[in-house]
Amino acid sequence: MFDPHDPLGIDDLLTDEDRAIRGTVRAWAADRVLPHVADWYERGEIPGIRELARELGSLGALGMQLTGYGCAGASAVQYGLACLEVEAADSGIRSLVSVQGSLAMYAIHRFGSEEQKRQWLPGMAAGEIIGCFGLTEPDHGSDPAGMRTYARRDAGGDWVLTGRKMWITNGSVAGVAIVWARTDEGIRGFVVPTDRPGFSAPEIRHKWSLRASVTSELVLDEVRLPADAVLPEVTGLRGPLSCLSHARYGIVWGAMGAARTCFETALAYARSREQFGRPIAGFQLTQAKLADMAVELHKGILLAHHLGRRMDAGRLRPEQVSFGKLNNVREAIEICRTARTILGANGISLEYPVMRHATNLESVLTYEGTVEMHQLVLGKALTGVDAFR
Ligand SMILES: Cc1cc2nc3c(=O)[nH]c(=O)nc-3n(C[C@H](O)[C@H](O)[C@H](O)COP(=O)(O)OP(=O)(O)OC[C@H]3O[C@@H](n4cnc5c(N)ncnc54)[C@H](O)[C@@H]3O)c2cc1C
Repeated sequence: MFDPHDPLGIDDLLTDEDRAIRGTVRAWAADRVLPHVADWYERGEIPGIRELARELGSLGALGMQLTGYGCAGASAVQYGLACLEVEAADSGIRSLVSVQGSLAMYAIHRFGSEEQKRQWLPGMAAGEIIGCFGLTEPDHGSDPAGMRTYARRDAGGDWVLTGRKMWITNGSVAGVAIVWARTDEGIRGFVVPTDRPGFSAPEIRHKWSLRASVTSELVLDEVRLPADAVLPEVTGLRGPLSCLSHARYGIVWGAMGAARTCFETALAYARSREQFGRPIAGFQLTQAKLADMAVELHKGILLAHHLGRRMDAGRLRPEQVSFGKLNNVREAIEICRTARTILGANGISLEYPVMRHATNLESVLTYEGTVEMHQLVLGKALTGVDAFR
């Protein structure tokens, strides 16, 4: 039988365990996020963010794919399904999950010392400690190689960090920040406890997107750190870029969650809303929109599955992640915008989720590599010519 919610039968690709994880995260989001998220969005704050982080920790959703140190050791497909279900509720909450697990925890897990892993990962996996990831600066976004934040070695071996990071998710609520800085030996990553003198994280207000997410500046004013605060296993941009590739993989799935919610909302609305004496779902123009939305939604989910399987097999290339992020975020935002038109005036109301998702995706389109950057990554892979500069 044709299932309008799964027209390609993609569910057949899942194991029972995959379905169980997906069901648990979906039920959590329905209970803990959906009833409140429009209010959080309107207010531009999440009052119980620490509690939410702990709950995500108990679900095993933080650092989900990592192994040991209290992490769930889930597959790439299972992590992707969790991202999809969280983002079906709101991209801001999925951003919390991505930054915590795929950026901050992943950096420590992949490049940290044994001591750093033991000190930070169990608390972060449990959601007791929130992490952030500081790469972007006011003058260096797409081109982080030009970063100005500088870490100098002091006589006793200490590091002293000075600089500013911008647009940092979770910044003001973080207990630990992974900060990337220029040093005399190249770009290095630092594990910075946020209670260090000289560290502050003023929140960025007046956002029209990702309003149910904390976004901050990081100010590092001569922050003194011990010699072992540096991530020992990596030097150069390869460090932050491999973390970003991991987080982008989650976005490939997550964006389809936002798109799914908008599609389902538009479908239900079109069936019940009547104009000219019949449901608007009966107009060919509405059906064309719904058909095109369904095609792109399920193609995107299929693509996410494909990339997930490659990641589980250890065969996922960064260019393939760029392919997925470019396609799925671009198509997701289009689906949300089309859903908005189907809802007419109601489409602009927070009573319905479509405008919230569409405006959230404006950020998702830009962070973790802009659309243009991923086009350039693919362009370079296709042509062999670097067009970045
Ligand atoms: C809500 C939110 C949360 C974020 N969270 C984090 C976080 O947790 N940690 C973090 O480090 N960063 C974070 N970011 C920052 C994000 O990663 C950057 O905004 C992004 O990398 C783009 O940088 P930029 O905004 O400086 O834009 P720019 O790099 O200035 O780009 C502006 C425009 O120019 C284009 N452009 C730039 N260079 C080229 C080129 N060579 N060819 C063609 N076009 C080009 C871009 O594609 C874009 O369209 C976040 C951003 C947002 C909006």
